[in-house]
Amino acid sequence: MISLSNIHKSYAMGNNSLHVLKGINLQIEQGEFVSIMGSSGSGKSTLLNILGILDNYDEGTYHLNGKLVKNMSEKQAAKLRNELLGFVFQSFNLISFKNAMENVALPLYYQGVSRKKRNKIALEYLDKMGLLQWANHLPNEMSGGQKQRVAIARSMISKPKIIFADEPTGALDSATSFEVMDILREINQDGITLIIVTHEHDIAAMTQKIIRLSDGRISEIIQNGELKNWKSQYRRELEIA
Ligand code: ADP
Ligand code: MG
Repeated sequence: MISLSNIHKSYAMGNNSLHVLKGINLQIEQGEFVSIMGSSGSGKSTLLNILGILDNYDEGTYHLNGKLVKNMSEKQAAKLRNELLGFVFQSFNLISFKNAMENVALPLYYQGVSRKKRNKIALEYLDKMGLLQWANHLPNEMSGGQKQRVAIARSMISKPKIIFADEPTGALDSATSFEVMDILREINQDGITLIIVTHEHDIAAMTQKIIRLSDGRISEIIQNGELKNWKSQYRRELEIA
């Protein structure tokens, strides 16, 4: 599904350039739940942005679903993103003056779906996230965990094959982080490929495969065991404590 070969990426820095990715080789299959780890500045977001066709790379090849992703026009990239990809961000990236339902419905607006139809579908996705009663609330009336669930619903509404999440729990307390990871695990069990960036070990431990970046290269790939139900696990730990 995803195949990277010898990917290099530099950023121009005045007269110099910063070589961030130094030859990344990576395969990710349909249905995997993968985390990308590494210290701050190691290139995690850069890699995720390339995978999500939000940014270009300088050297190497990226095949997505068998298709070479290289030097695409913004229009071609947007088409592929709309067909295949969903995004979740640390800071939720919700539109502050639109309510939860309208935020979730937004990708369908860009696909030209009528307001009535897109709002109806948005309510179904909010319902899946346990947020039906919050449909008419604005983001600033919701908790961090609720906002992230709205963002996850929005990422799912166009039925993506892959969801990319950059530090999805980075702004959440640990109990809420476990809840969000559980939702992501459930989404993954429906066959959607999930690729998350995190610098938190306990979050990475909840994924099947941990890819460690250091100094612009993949230094380690750890295959994890079976995925647990982390919310109930966390509850059990609280009860024992
Ligand atoms: P991470 O997500 O692992 O913290 P990033 O991929 O965001 O790391 O950044 C990797 C390096 O590239 C950092 O040193 C960062 O400052 C630099 N960088 C990221 N984006 C840009 C940009 N658009 N222009 C210049 N430098 C950038
Ligand atoms: Mg980052």
